[in-house]
Amino acid sequence: MSTETIFSKIIAREIPADIVYEDDQSLAFRDINPQAPFHVLIIPKTPIATINDITPEHASLVGHLYVVAAKLAKEYGFAEDGYRVVMNCNEHGGQTVYHIHLHVLAGKEMGWPPY
Ligand code: 5GP
Repeated sequence: MSTETIFSKIIAREIPADIVYEDDQSLAFRDINPQAPFHVLIIPKTPIATINDITPEHASLVGHLYVVAAKLAKEYGFAEDGYRVVMNCNEHGGQTVYHIHLHVLAGKEMGWPPY
């Protein structure tokens, strides 16, 4: 099964994105259909289709995505008020792009439960 998704094209700069952060392991860019005043997606440069495909070898990489989330939340001024970090898995989780990504949503008070 191909691991190529639209996010691979964003990593390769084949399609444009509003990139807010990049390092050797990850890329963060604004969601094209934002659900909050601040909504960025943080993706690993190595494609992993779903949470179900995460193995112990990915632990450091997946942890790194959270390090980037906290860094961006602080940098953009949302750390104190708070924010939400979400990763959806498969159909019932609401996943539409099969390259794992953390959603970082901020700038408004979130509701719970999330439906
Ligand atoms: P999921 O539903 O898989 O958890 O989240 C996928 C997210 O990717 C959605 O919030 C959707 O708006 C966003 N998205 C889909 N295609 C693109 C794109 O081409 N560019 C950007 N920046 N975001 C995208």
